[in-house]
Amino acid sequence: MINIRQISVKCGNCNTYQTLSGYARREEWNVYTYECENDVCDPAVTRTLIEVPVELDEFARRDPGWRGGGHG
Ligand SMILES: [Zn+2]
Repeated sequence: MINIRQISVKCGNCNTYQTLSGYARREEWNVYTYECENDVCDPAVTRTLIEVPVELDEFARRDPGWRGGGHG
């Protein structure tokens, strides 16, 4: 199982950790969007998308408050 909360996403441009800013479902993948929260990076350029197979996504299952969570 993969829990997105246990994954840290670091930006190669500004060298700081990106924060979870969005979630979307794409077919059998949960897609999490991470962005820099500073004035160094343009999020449109440095945005990171992490795709987790739905059947392995522990975070979405355990937190039904998330859109797309709580089923499967
Ligand atoms: Zn950055």
